[in-house]
Amino acid sequence: MSFKSLGLSENLLKAISKKGYETPSPIQAKAIPPVLEGKDVLASAQTGTGKTAGFTLPLLHILSENPKEKFRPVRALILTPTRELAAQVYANVKEYSEFLEIRSAVIFGGVNQKPQAAAIRRGVDVLVATPGRLLDLQNQGLLSLKRVEIFVLDEADRMLDMGFLRDMERIMKLMPPKRQNLMFSATFSKDIRKLANGILNHPVQVEATPENTTVDAISQKVYRVAKGKKTGLVIKLISEGNWQQVLIFTRTKHGANNLTKKLASAGITAAAIHGNKSQGARTKALSGFKSGKIRVMVATDIAARGLDIPLLPHVVNYEIPNISEDYVHRIGRTGRAGASGEAVSLVSADETSYLRSIEKLVGMKIPMEIIEGFEPDPNASTEPVKQGGGRNRSGGGARNSSKKSKSNDSKGGNSSNKKRNNRNRNRNKRSN
Ligand code: AMP
Repeated sequence: MSFKSLGLSENLLKAISKKGYETPSPIQAKAIPPVLEGKDVLASAQTGTGKTAGFTLPLLHILSENPKEKFRPVRALILTPTRELAAQVYANVKEYSEFLEIRSAVIFGGVNQKPQAAAIRRGVDVLVATPGRLLDLQNQGLLSLKRVEIFVLDEADRMLDMGFLRDMERIMKLMPPKRQNLMFSATFSKDIRKLANGILNHPVQVEATPENTTVDAISQKVYRVAKGKKTGLVIKLISEGNWQQVLIFTRTKHGANNLTKKLASAGITAAAIHGNKSQGARTKALSGFKSGKIRVMVATDIAARGLDIPLLPHVVNYEIPNISEDYVHRIGRTGRAGASGEAVSLVSADETSYLRSIEKLVGMKIPMEIIEGFEPDPNASTEPVKQGGGRNRSGGGARNSSKKSKSNDSKGGNSSNKKRNNRNRNRNKRSN
């Protein structure tokens, strides 16, 4: 199977070979043909599978085949949940369209809208956007979606998690009903299927990897440890293992900040990346991490979603997620592009039930180890931690499953009242 045999144009093939891709990834091989045929597609694929090229390449092919007009209306809209993902998708669109007469732009919140509005005024064929800023500009009359021919909804599951359902419904009404729709999601809950039914028209379904199975190349390990000894253990693992590029997940922003400080005082360069950080700070942290200047990046789930970090060797779950599917997303950041990776989870007594749910989901018992000096606390309760803003889709930690909130990127850690969850959700929405 080659990109050429998929029927992509010469100018796209040129850009693909410039990127150094030799063969289409499984999701690309499966998604590109039906998209080129003009069909709606529902794809199950997470970051790291090559999904972005899976929708961008055929989309660019279709747009460049059809005649352009002098006044360039938005003909393709790609909607993403986070700014980072929007910026990343846009970078891909730019690269793949290098040899085409296609104009593109990206819009997201947290930065001045003027340059974004000016780009749209000049005319763009492909617009990559987060929902908040898109609606903002539309409300101000600076943007029209009336001529959209292709709509891509990327990371639909995260879109729902972040509370963007109403925004998405509003956006849908701004586009003509006759259009091609592509929807990508890493997981397929009932809500996602409902959303898909409302958007897609007789979609072709494609899948990159079987749903909710962990990649074979990733070696997984659990360290049973006392809660108070986690920081010491993570420092030991990084230093003694001489790990040079580590992504650590914490459950809360507060936890991410705290751990970053402690790592720094232990002489390990680290940066936190979460929803409270400015766009500039996040971009800087990410590029420092990619270039090797920063050894550890500490992130919350929402902030980490969509980050493109190729060939990540180490992922650490400082706290394991109460949403079992998030575990799969997190460890999916290692072992990309065929490289092997290692995912370790530090599990204290109160996380026991979450671990059980994860093992059930991935269908295996994750090998467990105890390190001398960092033993678990035999007297600690196995009662699940009450999680501030913790979402609970999958039944992990059944005890707090009644506390439904849309974001686990929340501040602080203990009480989980509705008001605060709403506040967090609104804050998330505003910042996108
Ligand atoms: P994505 O899942 O779209 O975030 O892509 C993950 C990574 O795989 C990105 O760094 C892409 O540049 C890279 N990639 C995408 N398609 C291919 C391909 N066919 N061959 C090799 N690398 C690819």
